[in-house]
Amino acid sequence: MSELAGLEAFDDVQRLIVVAAHPDDLETICGGTMALLARRGVKIFSVNCTLGDIGTQDAHTTRPVVATTRLAEAEEAARLLGLDQVACLGHHDGELVADLELRAQIARLYRVTQADTLLTFDPYWAGQVHPDHRAAGQAALDAYMPSKMPLYRPEQLREPGAGLGVLKRVFLFLTDREPDVLVDVTAVYDVKLAACAAHRSQFPQGSESLEWLQRWDEERGKAIGASRAESFRRMEVW
Ligand SMILES: [Zn+2]
Repeated sequence: MSELAGLEAFDDVQRLIVVAAHPDDLETICGGTMALLARRGVKIFSVNCTLGDIGTQDAHTTRPVVATTRLAEAEEAARLLGLDQVACLGHHDGELVADLELRAQIARLYRVTQADTLLTFDPYWAGQVHPDHRAAGQAALDAYMPSKMPLYRPEQLREPGAGLGVLKRVFLFLTDREPDVLVDVTAVYDVKLAACAAHRSQFPQGSESLEWLQRWDEERGKAIGASRAESFRRMEVW
């Protein structure tokens, strides 16, 4: 499983869940891959654990105002990428903790969406300085095993369409481990940039505010001779 793969790493994926911390995490980190998979008919569920409600340098606004703006931006970005659903777990930005409540919220989503594949932050990357990213990744991995066990929060299993968790594969992003999946996203890069730019509160100059991202994706593409790529690390689960 350590050889380098491209989009074919996702060939068996039908229902995918991305557990992120903030509106714009998914779009910037893996928006191109999501656009490609959505075009293949993969169902994609986006989860933002926080409201993104400190995502501003304006000291005169309020957290509810920022949250409302950012949720609307996330909806617009999801429409551009072709995501099926955006869920927000309602936690405050900058205060996310991988506690039992967050674990249960995420396990419920594994059960309700019946997702077969998880994408999330690598919580073990020592260089991850954002506590929300670390907490989201940790809680997403922690929820994996209990979601498959019938005595864990059985009330969740009585919801319409819910069943035991069926996740079969995990891909981590923002990791210091060598990527073993590099997806050429050149063909959909305009879609990725549009989805990122939909987060106007974060990138007010549109693609000009996203030059750092383009350089990052160009750098990620070099290993496979692509002009733009996104990288992941597969995690073995059973
Ligand atoms: Zn973030």
